[in-house]
Amino acid sequence: MKYLGAHVSASGGLENAPLNAHDIGAKAFALFTKNQRQWLAKDLTTIEIDRFKLRCSELGYSPDYIMPHDSYLINLGHPEKEGVEKSRAAFLDEMKRCEELGLTLLNFHPGSHLGQIPLESSLQRVAESINIALGKTRGVSAVIENTAGQGSNLGSRFEELAEIIAQVDDQSRVGVCLDTCHLFTSGYDLRTAEAYAATMEHFDAVIGFDRLRGVHLNDAKKELGTRVDRHAPIGEGYLGLEAFRLLMQDPRFDDIPLILETPEPERWPDEIRLLYSLAAEA
Ligand SMILES: [Zn+2]
Ligand SMILES: [Zn+2]
Repeated sequence: MKYLGAHVSASGGLENAPLNAHDIGAKAFALFTKNQRQWLAKDLTTIEIDRFKLRCSELGYSPDYIMPHDSYLINLGHPEKEGVEKSRAAFLDEMKRCEELGLTLLNFHPGSHLGQIPLESSLQRVAESINIALGKTRGVSAVIENTAGQGSNLGSRFEELAEIIAQVDDQSRVGVCLDTCHLFTSGYDLRTAEAYAATMEHFDAVIGFDRLRGVHLNDAKKELGTRVDRHAPIGEGYLGLEAFRLLMQDPRFDDIPLILETPEPERWPDEIRLLYSLAAEA
């Protein structure tokens, strides 16, 4: 079964995220557990935690289908000591928040070498950062997202993600999230049955579907291989509807959160209905 949802707002309190997800007909959702533009946040209170858990259980959202995203400020592959330490502290805090909320997945972009250190060294830093956070928490998995490869961002090639994963100590708590827009603009085609099959086969060979913990469903505002991260509404970008039909009918994407990060939240209910209708065609 497919679990569709969107990255919903948690403004006014974390317990509003499941409510917002319910309002758009979502069976899964993503959220920020703190303001994503700030390094620090107040600790969660017991009341906040209880309210969030209660609301999730009332509305039928199990942690399996809730995939929090960390702050965009964090760069776990930062070339400088100060930068990487600040990021590691913030990432650990994000993972602890997930743990307190009873959540099991933390989705993040691997980071960036900023042109200052070799790619390999930066990937190694990311893995070490993950090891530190996993070593100080329990029950939460590190879910690394593939990127569009803009600038010096890591993680646009499956091989880079595999290299990070290989260096993680606790193999039971590391996985990946595939973003369809990032796949496409980083050069992995999904527009025809043949291209889709080849990309997924490559993913399975290099990383493996057993590592897949979630998906971001976004169409792309830019062409194949442009390495630009700009999301478009489903079916209205260069990726097109056929790519989403193929994915929605692919059983390898069953039973994980499939999250919209498309630019017009007011259209999410329609996009969710559209995607479920594609799945039902099978
Ligand atoms: Zn994404
Ligand atoms: Zn993106």
